[in-house]
Amino acid sequence: MPAFLQMNDCLSTRHGHLYVEACDTVELVKAFGSPLFVFSEKQIRENVRRFQQAFQQGWPDGPVKVLPAAKANWIPAIQRILADEGCGCDVYSEGELSIALEAGFDRSLISVNGVPKDEAHIYRCIDAGVRLTIDSLEEVAVIERAAKELNKVARVRLRLKPPLPGFTRRSDFVAEGMVPTDIAALVYKGGLTYDQVLEVAPRLWRMKNVELLGFHQHHGRHSRSLEYWEEQMRRFAREVGRVCRALGGFQPKEIDIGGGFPIPRDPFNAATDYTQPLQLAALQGISSVLKMAGKSVRYPLLTRLINMFESRPNRNPAYSIEDYADVCTRTLREELLRQGVSVAGVMLQLEPGRSVHGNAGIHLTTVKSIKRITRPIQWNSIIVDTTEFWFTGGRYEHHLHDYVFANKVDHPLVGKADIIGRSCYGDRLLPIVPVPEVEVGDILAILDVGAYQEVSMSNFNALPRPASVLVCGDRAELIRRRESEQDVFRRDVIPERLRLKEPRVPSRAHDQVN
Ligand SMILES: *Cc1c(COP(=O)(O)O)cnc(C)c1O
Repeated sequence: MPAFLQMNDCLSTRHGHLYVEACDTVELVKAFGSPLFVFSEKQIRENVRRFQQAFQQGWPDGPVKVLPAAKANWIPAIQRILADEGCGCDVYSEGELSIALEAGFDRSLISVNGVPKDEAHIYRCIDAGVRLTIDSLEEVAVIERAAKELNKVARVRLRLKPPLPGFTRRSDFVAEGMVPTDIAALVYKGGLTYDQVLEVAPRLWRMKNVELLGFHQHHGRHSRSLEYWEEQMRRFAREVGRVCRALGGFQPKEIDIGGGFPIPRDPFNAATDYTQPLQLAALQGISSVLKMAGKSVRYPLLTRLINMFESRPNRNPAYSIEDYADVCTRTLREELLRQGVSVAGVMLQLEPGRSVHGNAGIHLTTVKSIKRITRPIQWNSIIVDTTEFWFTGGRYEHHLHDYVFANKVDHPLVGKADIIGRSCYGDRLLPIVPVPEVEVGDILAILDVGAYQEVSMSNFNALPRPASVLVCGDRAELIRRRESEQDVFRRDVIPERLRLKEPRVPSRAHDQVN
């Protein structure tokens, strides 16, 4: 089995090609063009079922519901799959709410999160009968007014922000420096502190048209370690206990622990990037010393140094869904009971985003050009027809994705190269990675891009964004079409006074010369 493959993977290799379920990825590019996002229906369904089963196993006291975060992949066809699985939906924006309502999720399992929430958005949520997860002091008065005006009951939960003083290891979210997780979690905007909760909870409690159902938290993927999850659950349960006591013995009906669970190959891992700043510092330091020595000494020595550099995707898999479920449910249950909060009948909710979608998506891109520098230093660039602007969700979190050449999966890795995107930025998609003998026309598969990537694409360089297909067994169907140039320009307006009086005919100078 090639090193990149995992247990329960939608990926496999057959006759030297990469497959998603029963579809040959090389054929997918022929059929749908390049570049291309490919999602596996089976992988998405399997991921949510594992979450459902594993958490239910550790939470025998009440129902467990998985509410995947829509922001990670809000493509409507994908949301239909999740609704079909009986999931709920964690929603942030108005647009995501529209998609969730269209997809047909049980409305009592749609949680609308986030800050700020516009007034019209709050009115719509209450009117639609979805849950509002309160994350600001400002929205409380709007909720009360909206519920009264609409003559409906607003069903709400409070988003807490329990501090994590017991977990001070560096946060993976901040690759540029060493920021302790407890500090990174505190400064993140989500959640209300205990003091803020005490300001709003008693008011909510007294409101006639507002029903407080329970509590929410989400710290996100600061770390993959089980201790981090244990600390989160313990502090969350204590905070819930503290708030319940302050409310004179309030009993929550639902408790939502948020998301942030890592995916198996765990590319959301700053570790792989740490070496790069070190490499560059070494290059800078040694380079300036060698400047005195002259070109004939400096370049050969720098070449030797550069040849030592290499990025490798993470080969140390994260814990399994079952491991996270076990530590989360056990800690939460124990600590809630210790706090005097009953767990009987309490609905446990979780909001995995990346771990539902991440390993269900790959990106296929074609090699367009190969540039080799041999003097005065050695450097190889493989230029492909995609761009880092279509992986900005990953850039933001410092991913280093695993990859494989889809038409050469069993070719030995014989060299090293930068994999470079097509935009006019530096666009280093994969810096200095091992590669096989590569030719123009080869197809590179970038793995684990199912979460946050497709949905964060931009139109830098006026590039039309690529299509997405959904694979189900040996079937592949378009779920988002490739953009046309018209799509790219559809929002543009030229004020009348700046318009050309007569549309300019493209000049055809060489025709006239003839
Ligand atoms: C983003 C987000 C999630 C999902 O986070 P992942 O790291 O993708 O699992 C869940 N809940 C809330 C409130 C979020 O903002």
